[in-house]
Amino acid sequence: MVHRVIPLLDQRTHALRSATLVDGPLLDQLHRPLHDLRISVTDRCNFRCSYCMPKAVFNKDYPYLPHSALLSFEEITRVARVAVAQGVRKIRLTGGEPLLRKNIELLIAQLAQLHTPDGQPLDLTLTTNGALLARKAQALKDAGLQRLTVSLDGLDDTIFRKMNDVDFPVRDVLDGLEAAHKAGLADIKVNMVVQRGTNDHEILPMARHFKGTGSTLRFIEYMDVGATNGWRMDQVVPSREVLQTLQTQWALRPLAPHTPGETAQRWAYADGSGEVGVISSVTQAFCADCSRARLSTDGKLYLCLFASQGHDLRDLLRGEATDAHLTAAIQHIWQGRSDRYSALRAALPADTGTGARRVEMSYIGG
Ligand code: SAM
Ligand code: SF4
Ligand code: SF4
Repeated sequence: MVHRVIPLLDQRTHALRSATLVDGPLLDQLHRPLHDLRISVTDRCNFRCSYCMPKAVFNKDYPYLPHSALLSFEEITRVARVAVAQGVRKIRLTGGEPLLRKNIELLIAQLAQLHTPDGQPLDLTLTTNGALLARKAQALKDAGLQRLTVSLDGLDDTIFRKMNDVDFPVRDVLDGLEAAHKAGLADIKVNMVVQRGTNDHEILPMARHFKGTGSTLRFIEYMDVGATNGWRMDQVVPSREVLQTLQTQWALRPLAPHTPGETAQRWAYADGSGEVGVISSVTQAFCADCSRARLSTDGKLYLCLFASQGHDLRDLLRGEATDAHLTAAIQHIWQGRSDRYSALRAALPADTGTGARRVEMSYIGG
């Protein structure tokens, strides 16, 4: 007997395929525009930060995506081009560790060609753990990368090696930062996730080290992303506490945000030696202005860092879809968006409240 396989067309995919173009500004259900696209170029990483990819879970048996599942650079650039035409002004490449993606500079060169509808170049940036930066900085800059964020959780080598959990020395990340400066990458941000009892005593040494260097240090509240890091509220150091700690040493004054929806609150050193930032993802939700979408390594569009499901664009990209179809699909997805997890966090149980498992940050990007 011959079994016929009847493909069940996922309702969401069907809705995407049949979406029609709309005119006017693209806004979600809470009237938020789509300005910011984060693109994860790999779900793999050479670190095992326990708050993101704990070793016990992300081991050799972990089902990382096969290469064929990854969007190609051409597919990524196509989504980016369509998204830019719909209002995206800023693209951040992330992961996993984006510098592990082979020839990442070729993707940067393609994205650097894109312009907003009013002719402005795209704000193109990348977040890296810095491990490969010393080797790659010049190629990234030459390809057209303008800005860079380096994650660094402390200067104490013992603590840093323990936090990355692969015994990676802090010196190499600092060398990477120096190489990035030398290559001419301006506006470098340094992100430190603060975990109580792990690296909170590194707040002042980190601030002292980066003050006056031109690199802006930002302290991030440890978030309950994913389903594997065993997050507990008592490990979160609220930004207000970080600011109090900084103010024991330096006078600070608040700065206005560069753009609405900016994740970091900016503070200037009163002595004129630059600024620091705090990202209060847990204690002060910034969902009301959240204009970010995330494209996963395998081409799913996620509307919130805490989502459990994405919208499959790869299926469209690898099918017959024209750019008009793709545009209509992105419009349809964004117009249906009502996510505001952080604003609701206090009222929700530990999971999303739907019983669904949240995706990992290494898969959709930070
Ligand atoms: N591997 C790159 C890196 O570490 O910069 C890029 C990807 S990483 C997922 C992006 C950012 O997310 C990093 O700055 C990292 O510190 C941050 N991150 C990861 N897990 C986090 C968590 N549980 N809470 C807050 N930030 C987190
Ligand atoms: Fe890797 Fe970045 Fe996650 Fe650390 S935070 S495990 S460096 S992806
Ligand atoms: Fe945006 Fe979701 Fe974060 Fe709120 S919780 S700021 S909607 S990504």
